[in-house]
Amino acid sequence: MSVPLRPAVERIPAYVPGARAATGQRVHKLSSNENPYGPLPTVQEAVAQAAGTLNRYPDMFASELTEAVAARHGVTPEHVVAGCGSVAVLGHVLQAFCDPGDEVVHAWRSFEAYPIVIRLQGATPVPVPVDADGRHDLPAMLAAVTDRTRAVLLCSPNNPTGPALRHTQVAHTLAALPDDVLVVLDEAYVEFVRDEDPVDSRALLAAHPNLVVLRTFSKAYGLAGLRVGYAVARPDVARGIRTASTPFGVNHLAQVAAVASLQPDAQAELDRRVDAVVAERHRVLTGLRAQGWTVPDSQGNLVWLPTGPATADLAADAAAHGVLVRPFAGEGIRVSIGEPDSNDRVLELAGRWREHHQAG
Ligand SMILES: *Cc1c(COP(=O)(O)O)cnc(C)c1O
Repeated sequence: MSVPLRPAVERIPAYVPGARAATGQRVHKLSSNENPYGPLPTVQEAVAQAAGTLNRYPDMFASELTEAVAARHGVTPEHVVAGCGSVAVLGHVLQAFCDPGDEVVHAWRSFEAYPIVIRLQGATPVPVPVDADGRHDLPAMLAAVTDRTRAVLLCSPNNPTGPALRHTQVAHTLAALPDDVLVVLDEAYVEFVRDEDPVDSRALLAAHPNLVVLRTFSKAYGLAGLRVGYAVARPDVARGIRTASTPFGVNHLAQVAAVASLQPDAQAELDRRVDAVVAERHRVLTGLRAQGWTVPDSQGNLVWLPTGPATADLAADAAAHGVLVRPFAGEGIRVSIGEPDSNDRVLELAGRWREHHQAG
């Protein structure tokens, strides 16, 4: 006899991380939607200085970070909860609001962490297929809401397919839902959005007490290795999330790096990097379409190749050519936007695959 796992945990699929390079191997790592550029020099310097005080616990409430984030969003610090990456914050949101048996509606395919964190909470994921363009099917998601629904997760831009939701769509969804259903808007890639009618989460938060906005420093800010993200919500909602949070969950280096990233003098360089990724995204999307691929619009730092049954073979071929991508077996390949030479390699490979495909 061994101690049985909770049945909910037994059923959870393992998170599949993006492939990593073997030590010493030079590869184009496009498998985890990371920022290809290293942390800003000012951020690296702040982290190096902070290393001298690691014998101390971090500020439990990440006060300086929370204040800087609140100022950025035009809210008071009571509205902000920082956590060990926005995935952890999402876990705390569900811990604070979901009981076993509660349902959480989310798009699928979307972020693979969603069904994991929902199940871990004992709640039931209710996946609603994205449409042929990789977009959330919001009418279908609304139709999936029952009196057991406790939360609706919206991922905009959607990982791994790419499209962003529009402001009017999210506003309409919030208006259509009862106030006692939480809406979690995961904006991990918001900085890369260049869409018409982008979601104005500040306006939506002012109008809807049931909205939680999630942001991260892992993507546009290039701090994936430090694990820091946050939620913005009404103070009573934020208080619940804070209660569920891991004490001292945001480590000292992460707090220092995130605060340094929010300094006004860091903004221009961060913007320049994001703009470079956006320009490359445009180049990659245009190049793929010129090759004959049907790819969804992307507003994140990623593109989705619908490779179907050939997915595993093509991902292996990419790896053999030094390009690490994220395959979703039988469905497609998510490729992060990297530096221009990495993206050139992607276009080369995709062009070759396309020719073979058409020849076969
Ligand atoms: C990368 C990503 C996150 C951020 O995760 P962290 O835990 O903050 O690194 C959140 N949501 C989505 C959809 C993502 O792709």
